[in-house]
Amino acid sequence: MKKADADLKKSIEEWAELLSQPLPELRRMALDIEVIPVEENRIPDAREAAQEVVAVALVGSDDLRKVLLLKRKGADLGMRRLKDDFDPVFFDDEKDLLAEVFKHMVQHPFIITYNGDDFDLNYLYHRAQRPEIGFKKEDIPISLGNNVANVRPGVHIDLYKTFINRSIKGYAFNNRYTEHTLNSVAKALIEETKIPLEGSMGDLSMYEMAEYCYQDSKITYMLTSFSDSLLMKLLLVISRVAKMPIDDVARISVSNWIRSMMYFEHRQRNALIPRRSELEDREQTVVSEPVIKGKKYKGGIVVEPKSGIYFDVAVLDFASLYPSLIKVYNLSYETVRCVHEECRSKGIPETAYWACTKRRGIASNVIGSLRDIRVDYYKPLSKQPGLKAEEKELAKVVSQALKVILNASYGVMGADIYPLYYLPAADATAALGRYSITRTIGKCEELGIEVVYGDTDSLFLKSPKEEQVKEITEWAEKEIGIELDLEKTYRYVAFSQRKKNYLGVLPDGNVDVKGLTGKKSHTPPFIREAFYNAVNILSKVMSEGDFERARDEIKTYLRGRYLALKNKEIPTEQLAFNIQMSKSIGSYKKTEPQHVKAAKILVKQGKEVKAGDIISFVKTTNSIGVKPVSMANVNEVDTKKYEDYMRSTFDQILSALGYEFDEIVGATKLEDFFWTS
Ligand SMILES: [Zn+2]
Repeated sequence: MKKADADLKKSIEEWAELLSQPLPELRRMALDIEVIPVEENRIPDAREAAQEVVAVALVGSDDLRKVLLLKRKGADLGMRRLKDDFDPVFFDDEKDLLAEVFKHMVQHPFIITYNGDDFDLNYLYHRAQRPEIGFKKEDIPISLGNNVANVRPGVHIDLYKTFINRSIKGYAFNNRYTEHTLNSVAKALIEETKIPLEGSMGDLSMYEMAEYCYQDSKITYMLTSFSDSLLMKLLLVISRVAKMPIDDVARISVSNWIRSMMYFEHRQRNALIPRRSELEDREQTVVSEPVIKGKKYKGGIVVEPKSGIYFDVAVLDFASLYPSLIKVYNLSYETVRCVHEECRSKGIPETAYWACTKRRGIASNVIGSLRDIRVDYYKPLSKQPGLKAEEKELAKVVSQALKVILNASYGVMGADIYPLYYLPAADATAALGRYSITRTIGKCEELGIEVVYGDTDSLFLKSPKEEQVKEITEWAEKEIGIELDLEKTYRYVAFSQRKKNYLGVLPDGNVDVKGLTGKKSHTPPFIREAFYNAVNILSKVMSEGDFERARDEIKTYLRGRYLALKNKEIPTEQLAFNIQMSKSIGSYKKTEPQHVKAAKILVKQGKEVKAGDIISFVKTTNSIGVKPVSMANVNEVDTKKYEDYMRSTFDQILSALGYEFDEIVGATKLEDFFWTS
C-alpha cells in the first residue's frame, strides 16, 4: 500500500478483501460413459442415442469410485487387473443403471466431464428419453442449452472447453499441452494416459470395459485435483474477480470474462457503459502500421537474433509489462485521446496520442490495481519463507489467476469481439512496450551485457553476471517503472536467422522449441517419431563439443530416416495421416480435403462413413493423390510428398542448427545410397 498510487489504494483494498477469502474444496464427481459404436472409429450420435450405455464410471472427491456396468449378451466377464481401485456394480436393466447415475449426479454440486457438453451428458439425456428406456424429462437431472449441457441442481464443468481456452492453456499451464484430447492434456499435466484400446470396443470383456471407462473418469477427475485442486481454485478465483458463474468461466472465452468484470466495475462507479458506436467514433486512424497480417495494429518488438548457439543464456521477463504500462501511462478507452485540450501536451512516446492528465481511466484503474496486488503482494508472498503451506498455496493460486486475467485484459483491448475494444489504447500499449524494451536493450549495451534476442516482453542475455542483472533490474524499475524478472536460464539456445524461431534447452533437459509443427496430432507417426528423436538428441547436449556431435548425429539419423522412406521401408501405417470427418461426406461441397477424398474411396468400397469418423490415409502417386491406409501398399506411396512434409517439419530445427534439410536430401543421390548401404 505504501508503494501504490494514491488513487489506486481504494481499489487495491477492495481486491485484497475479495482475494483473501479462503478457497473451499469443491465437492465434485467426474463422469464418463461408454457406448459401443456401430462401427469402429465412429463416435456414436448423441442426439440419436441408439446404442445402449454399457458402462458409466463415477469418481468423486468423496472417494466415490464406482463403475456401473450393463450385463451385455455375449460379453465375457474377463479378468480383473486393477484390484482395489473401484467397485464394479452390475445391472441387468439399462434403466436401473441410468437411475443410479442420476442419483449420484444430484448428490454432487459439481459434475466434471471431458467433452460432456457434446457427448456424455448429451447422450445420457437423449438415451434416457428413448421409448425403450422411458424416463420422463423432469426426472433427468440434465438440460441442454446451446452447445451446453447443464445439470440440476448443480454445476457442470466440461474440461474440454476449459483446456481449449487459450488463456488457461497459455497463462495458467504455459502451453504444456499442444492438443486438446483427454489423453494429451492428461499426459502433459498429470503424466496419466488413457488405456490404449486394442481392437474394437465391442470385443472388450466386462472388466476390460470397466477399467477402460474408469481410467477416463479417473484422469478427468485428476485434472481437477492435481496440485491441491489447482484448476478448481483457479476457476474459483477468476470467477470472483470476473464476477461470473464458475461454469461460464470454465466454458467461455476470456473476452467474456473481462467484459463481465469491466461492466461490473462501471456499475459500481455508477458509470455509463459506452456503446460500441460511441467508441468507434472516437477511434479515427491508427498511426502505426500493422506488421502481422490480420492484426489491426503493430504488435510487440522482436529483436533480430544473432544466429548461432549460445550457452548459459538468461531470460529476463518484463513482469506484467502491458498491465504496468496501462497503469503508468493511464491507458483506457476514455483517457487515450481524451476530450480535454490541455491534456494534448501529454503525448505518449512513439505515438501521436496523448493520455488524460485529469483523471485515471477505468481500465487503468482496474488493471493497475490488480497488477499492483499481484506483483507487489501475492507474487512475493508466494515465495516468502516461513509462511504456512496453505497460505503459500493460496498466494500462488491467486497470483496465477491474476496473471491469466491481466494478460487477457490487455489482449482484449485490441480484439474487436470485445465490446470495449478501442484501438488507440491497444496501439499505444504496444508502442510503449516496444519503447520500453528498446530503451532497456540500450541500457544493457551500456552495461556491457550482450543481448542475443528479444521477443515481445522478454530479453535473452548471454551469461550476465549477477550484479549486472541486479543493475539492469533496478534501472528499469526506476527509469521506466517496470519490473524485470529473471524468468529462466537456458543451458543453451540455438538461434536460426528467422525471427521467433529458436530452440532452447533447459538445465533439466527439457527443450523449448519456438514455432514448431512436428508435434501436431495428425502428423504421421513416422515423422512425429523422428521429430521427437531429434529433439531428444539435442536435450543431451552439455557443452559446445557435444553440440557439434549432436548436429552430426541428427544429420546421420535424419538421413537414415529419409533413405528408409525413399527405399519404401516404412510401413504404410507409419505414414498415415489421421483426420476426423468434421461433417458428413455430402456436406463437403466447395473444397474437398484429402481425408474426404480418401473417405470417398472407402464409400466406393461399400464402407459407411459418417461425421466423426477418423479417416486414416496415405499420400499416394495415383491420380487422386491419396488412398485409405487399409487399401494402400508401400509401392504406391508418394515419397516426394513425405519428403516435403519432412522438410517443412525439420527445417525449423535444422535452421537453428545451421543447415538445411536439403543438405540431407542432396547428399543422397542414388549412388550414395548404394555405397552407404
Ligand atoms: Zn484529459
